[in-house]
Amino acid sequence: MFEEAVKIVNDSKSIYVVAHVNPDGDAIGSTFATYFALKKLGKEVYVVMPSYSSRFEFLPGVKDSIDKIEKKNYDLLIALDSSDYTRLAVSEEEYKNAKKVIMIDHHKISRPYGDFRYIDDKKASASEIAYLFIKALGVEIDKDIATMLYAGIMSDTGCFSYADTSPDTLRIAAELMEKGVNFVEICQRLNDTMKEEKLKLIAKAVDNMETYMDGKIRYTYISYEDIVKLGLNDEESEGMANYLRAVDGTEVAIYVRGKSDGTLKVSMRSRGNIDLSKIAIAFGGGGHPQAAGYTMNGDIEVEKDKLIKVVGEML
Ligand code: 5GP
Ligand code: MN
Repeated sequence: MFEEAVKIVNDSKSIYVVAHVNPDGDAIGSTFATYFALKKLGKEVYVVMPSYSSRFEFLPGVKDSIDKIEKKNYDLLIALDSSDYTRLAVSEEEYKNAKKVIMIDHHKISRPYGDFRYIDDKKASASEIAYLFIKALGVEIDKDIATMLYAGIMSDTGCFSYADTSPDTLRIAAELMEKGVNFVEICQRLNDTMKEEKLKLIAKAVDNMETYMDGKIRYTYISYEDIVKLGLNDEESEGMANYLRAVDGTEVAIYVRGKSDGTLKVSMRSRGNIDLSKIAIAFGGGGHPQAAGYTMNGDIEVEKDKLIKVVGEML
């Protein structure tokens, strides 16, 4: 499975590990677990993560990540949890300066890339694949690696509740727990803790909510100006679609937010009766059946109507 990837790693000295921009728990868990494992193998390794939400700062190593790959030539880029190389948190130039690229992902693929690819859309998280990769590398899982893998798996399975959670997922989680992972703290910090500003953002999201098709579709929009006014940044303003989806009877929740770069980010969540990844891919993005997204181009009112129409037709 990973034989070729292991060979590439063995032949590499300078290695950078990267995930998608706006990293979520799985992106962070899978990259840092891989980073810790490669360190144990004596590699010169860094995680490239130019920005992330402060709520992840309690996790080991996160503050040691770097913003940019300065080296003009390096051996290997390991990219996790990103279905398209243009979504990686490195520039095209930094990407191309790698002698080899390993891609590890679990999205329904839009654009595979790299010299070695391990893509399994049946896996609930990239962190679950990272676990297999680390085992293949022959590294013993220590507490830091286990903490990161657990945080990633827990995040992307919605606390082991989404449909793609498998018996294997739980067996891996059990093994990680045995390594002394503080699963109580991880769950509390990642799921049950927020800044007061975030609570105010939820209020705003609820205030701006629109419903369609008798509440089967819920939509909300928050401008970047409002996000800044609340004192939040791009990463900290995520997650509103989950709250909308939680309302009884909702099939699809849509959250559009303005971003610091002037673009509009669409985040969608479903209860699983509709495959959102298909819709997101049609609009130039990607994701999973229950969680998908894309960047909205053009006039928001026109584009919103288009999206609501497409979702309505699929329901
Ligand atoms: P979120 O709504 O949390 O930003 O993203 C949900 C899922 O959709 C994630 O798995 C994420 O990787 C994917 N996704 C979100 N936005 C994009 C996008 O612009 N392009 C692609 N390819 N995937 C996206
Ligand atoms: Mn993921």
